[in-house]
Amino acid sequence: MKAVVCKAQSRLAVEDVPKPAAGPGQVVLKVRACGICGSDLHALEFGFADGGVGTRYALSSVGNIMGHEFCGEVAEVGPGVDGFKPGDRVTSLPFLNCGECAQCRAGNAAQCRVFRVIGSANTPGAYAEYVRCAAPYLLKLPAQVNFRQGALIEPLSVALGGVNRGRLNPDTPCLVMGAGPIGLGVLMWLRARRIRNVVVSEPSASRAELARRTEPLAVVNPRQQNPAETLTQLAGGPPEVVFECVGAKGTLAQATSLAAAGGQVVVIGYCMVPDEINPHECINKNLTLDFSAGYTRADFETTIEALANGRLNAELMITDRVSLDEVPAMFERLHQPNGPAKVMIEMRD
Ligand SMILES: [Zn+2]
Ligand SMILES: [Zn+2]
Repeated sequence: MKAVVCKAQSRLAVEDVPKPAAGPGQVVLKVRACGICGSDLHALEFGFADGGVGTRYALSSVGNIMGHEFCGEVAEVGPGVDGFKPGDRVTSLPFLNCGECAQCRAGNAAQCRVFRVIGSANTPGAYAEYVRCAAPYLLKLPAQVNFRQGALIEPLSVALGGVNRGRLNPDTPCLVMGAGPIGLGVLMWLRARRIRNVVVSEPSASRAELARRTEPLAVVNPRQQNPAETLTQLAGGPPEVVFECVGAKGTLAQATSLAAAGGQVVVIGYCMVPDEINPHECINKNLTLDFSAGYTRADFETTIEALANGRLNAELMITDRVSLDEVPAMFERLHQPNGPAKVMIEMRD
């Protein structure tokens, strides 16, 4: 099958590799769509092989295939799998258990001794025609959810995990820092929950335009305007909840300075290098810092339901669609400022 393989730090190549087979408790999906995640860019740059500062969630190894935001059709069903058959439209949490150890046989997939994250380290992901998944992590897609939306369930669930941590009521002044796919996802969930007082800060004009289509109170360029002041003018107070969705060095300190006294900073941006905050300012303001990692199966279910009901206009974050062959060149483009928001790899028949 065709796949995009990690060859060396910052280098991808499209190659022909063996198609995966379904072991006990596993299925093989024919991939229909897979999003390119910012963490894949980070993994290839900083978390490659044994170098860099990547974690097991971000690392990628020589010869591996990335891609953890995917959906597709069941192509092959392994022994002992109930409830799925070839042709079913599904997505999966990007987790893989072995299906064979004592915990797996007892139905405790999360306790598997060789638990892995699909598309990281040595576990092949969905920048490929086929990907191996584990039945306990599969979810069916309702007919109203197309494949493009199906591959957005993972990043939308990351955003939902962050929003669920926010101490929110309908009038809470909120600031979303960054309108990349995660910031846009946070914005969509805040809108879906009828949180009214939301300002977005985003320096890129094209991303700011995407944020505007989700109708926050305002989108400001933080290099020209103080977003906390804008929020104070429009909503009567500085941000009580700041969602940090940038993950670059320095943005955490900005988030803590922009937050209101007694406020909360929810950190979703995945900064790969050590960063500084000013503890003195945080203490004086009595701030809560909340770091949000990932999601649960329930978050995936909530996201699928919201997509099926049309409560999230998620596809607007997709700025580019590419084939597998176009992925290496797209990684180059994604490094440039003002690059695309969400890039979707789509498989055509
Ligand atoms: Zn991701
Ligand atoms: Zn196991």
